[in-house]
Amino acid sequence: MITKIAGRERGWLKRAKEYILSDGVVAFHTETVYGLGANAFSDQAVQKIFTLKGRPSDNPLIAHVHKDYDISVLVDSTPSYAEELRRAFLPGPLTMVFPSKGKVSRFVSCGLDTLAIRVPSSPTAQAFLKEVDLPIAAPSANRSKHVSPVTARHVYDDFAGEIPLILDGGACDGGIESTVLDCTGEIPQILRAGLVTRDMIAGIVGACGVYERKVGEKPKSPGMAYKHYAPACKTSYFKAEELSAAKMLYDKEEAAGGTPYFLAESAVCARLASFRTFDLGGTGEQMAQKLYALLRKAEHAATLLIGIEPTVQDGVMDGVLNRFTRAFGRTVDET
Ligand code: AMP
Ligand code: MG
Repeated sequence: MITKIAGRERGWLKRAKEYILSDGVVAFHTETVYGLGANAFSDQAVQKIFTLKGRPSDNPLIAHVHKDYDISVLVDSTPSYAEELRRAFLPGPLTMVFPSKGKVSRFVSCGLDTLAIRVPSSPTAQAFLKEVDLPIAAPSANRSKHVSPVTARHVYDDFAGEIPLILDGGACDGGIESTVLDCTGEIPQILRAGLVTRDMIAGIVGACGVYERKVGEKPKSPGMAYKHYAPACKTSYFKAEELSAAKMLYDKEEAAGGTPYFLAESAVCARLASFRTFDLGGTGEQMAQKLYALLRKAEHAATLLIGIEPTVQDGVMDGVLNRFTRAFGRTVDET
């Protein structure tokens, strides 16, 4: 199969619809990361996503819909705070989890009685979703555990020859996956941190919890338990105060003929002027936007990537730190 990278011209949108209606899988741009989409009503189509990605069968998918889609067909979205949040943040990088009406394929929610809904703001995603006028089940368009894709080329690198079409909308502005918010309880609760922060949500509806999994408990958002975002090179991880140990490791790798790089926030890169560095930037938003692109770059350039944990504490750093530590194999179950 030839994999075509195309923009959102009429001809390609029509082609995308044909692929989706025949249970095919199409990758598409969103404002967070690229998605790998299939008809959420079709068992066969949804199963293809799991096979292509090598995704664990208990890690549910998000159903993506266009902004005029009537989600009451799919879920019971009655809590009053949900309506306020929809008005404030959608279309945008917020995924809302509601009690499911069981209308989509059972493989989307992997046995949970809830369904995650997202309305992306990317014009490419909106045009595609409007064209098909169906809920599209879509995880990030990377092989399971690999770094999420923020350009069409990243998707191509993982799936060339295996999917017919990547709808290219350029680089993703947001850079990390959507905030996943449980909207089944009395107050909303964050299951996965992202670009819409706890403060932003509490600012609209007064209160917002953050889910913390208790030891031995089945996770509410299964995907959060997995090792993820790992670049295909050796990695090592240090706190900012461990910089001398990190430099020793760098020197050792170089002495052995390797090409080590640091991945760190701007203030730390400034202290590493005589070393090779990938600079994440100085704010949470910059780091979110650059993280995956730099991890992908590193796997081509570096034999060893040494991550220095960022110390900045603004806005979306909960989301950035979660991805950063997991990319370096920290703070996750190995299941
Ligand atoms: P990805 O699309 O690869 O970003 O992964 C989707 C994320 O959403 C994973 O962390 C899932 O565990 C989470 N998710 C999807 N559906 C649900 C749901 N019904 N309840 C809780 N979390 C969900
Ligand atoms: Mg993913």
